[in-house]
Amino acid sequence: MARRETRTQERQRQLSEAASVRLPKDCDVIVVGGGASGLVAAIAAAEAGASVVVFESEAECGRRILATGNGRCNFANERLDPTRYNDPAFVGAVCGPTWLEDVLSFFHDSGMRWCSEEGLLYPLSLQAASVRNVLLARARAAGVVLAPARSVVHVSHPKDGPHPVEVSFSALFEDDEAPSTCRSRALVMAAGGKTALSLEGLGIRTSPRVPVLCPLACDESPLRVLDGRKVVARVKLFKDGQSECCWSDRGGVLFRDYGISGIVVFDLSRRAEKGDLVELDLVPDLPEAEILQIVDPSQSGSFVPGALDGVIDPTVAEVIERLARERWQLPQARRTMPKTDTEALVLLAKALPFRVVGPADVRQSQVTRGGITTDQLDPRTLSLRDHPWLFACGEALDVDADCGGFNLAWAWKSGMVAGAAAARSALS
Ligand SMILES: Cc1cc2nc3c(=O)[nH]c(=O)nc-3n(C[C@H](O)[C@H](O)[C@H](O)COP(=O)(O)OP(=O)(O)OC[C@H]3O[C@@H](n4cnc5c(N)ncnc54)[C@H](O)[C@@H]3O)c2cc1C
Repeated sequence: MARRETRTQERQRQLSEAASVRLPKDCDVIVVGGGASGLVAAIAAAEAGASVVVFESEAECGRRILATGNGRCNFANERLDPTRYNDPAFVGAVCGPTWLEDVLSFFHDSGMRWCSEEGLLYPLSLQAASVRNVLLARARAAGVVLAPARSVVHVSHPKDGPHPVEVSFSALFEDDEAPSTCRSRALVMAAGGKTALSLEGLGIRTSPRVPVLCPLACDESPLRVLDGRKVVARVKLFKDGQSECCWSDRGGVLFRDYGISGIVVFDLSRRAEKGDLVELDLVPDLPEAEILQIVDPSQSGSFVPGALDGVIDPTVAEVIERLARERWQLPQARRTMPKTDTEALVLLAKALPFRVVGPADVRQSQVTRGGITTDQLDPRTLSLRDHPWLFACGEALDVDADCGGFNLAWAWKSGMVAGAAAARSALS
């Protein structure tokens, strides 16, 4: 029986396969980054007739796709909407009215089929590898040269000759004979969150990178004992010192010893800053009056132990009951202190408070905010106005969105736009 490769063997094999790829000295379009947006850009450019080389610093292309959607890849959303992004006007101008159709027909033509879970789209296999594999197969069929294990360290624009773009790269494997530069007529920057590294010296403006779509660290509080418990809650965000809720959504929340996590908290992390107040409504389907009726039907002002057990996870309810009797709450400018135990309990059940410290466990962050600022680009082509040979797509740009397939939907569509426009520019 054949044995499975160990991690080390797999990496050795990938590196020797990468080393066997012979690169041309020049081509029409270089794509920096063989991730989601770069692979689609390469396919679009090659299918438009350009010769294309993709440089990827990892030992294989598309590795990050495998980790998306908990290994299932939530690759798009039936309700794509520019308002789910930090820059709706730019995203709307790039993606246009046929955005979802364009993404779905791209994957349909690549041989993939999909399913929907409440509007979130996954490959029919529920395996992210399906998405990655159809992209790699289509890229190879279109003649794209995939060059993994090669990190672009510098991009320059020497201006002379028919190939006015030059990249310098370093390889993860030893090959003294191979050249470490490659030239092209156009370049697509698709290096995700690391883009600024290889654009130094070109005078391109980038905004600072901040990890988002991650858990939130909150002020030390007695709620830390709930570490590991999950609830479904309505989450409300109040900017520091403001009494008006500025954002709210409903979803699963995971209590952690450092604060809170869960998909709805990941979306919250795009909006919350240090000092902001977050309130969890733990019984979003019941009005306060009904909870009062449940916990204190005689309106005595006090409640019996376990009064909330019928509507909240009893472990969470027990902690809240104790905190209500102690009158614990973080400072909440917009509320007066409750007068009775019952009022305190209802308040905590409907508005359990957390004070935000900042992003927590950034290794879990799904995207970074920041990157090449969008005011420098033509949204019809994704070329940089001051560098018409340079195109950019995906997370390389200062575009980020909520969870739910929105980030990948942007990667695919912006890759299509940038790749096709780079090919037109190179072949004109
Ligand atoms: C755990 C996790 C789960 C996620 N789940 C989802 C999800 O379900 N749905 C969703 O919509 N989004 C999800 N995302 C976000 C999604 O993965 C990103 O939005 C998307 O990958 C961005 O694509 P990109 O091509 O712009 O960047 P990337 O996918 O990061 O690709 C950039 C590539 O460039 C390479 N590179 C960087 N620098 C260089 C260099 N100098 N030279 C050569 N190569 C370079 C990198 O190695 C990388 O392969 C998830 C992210 C994470 C981390």
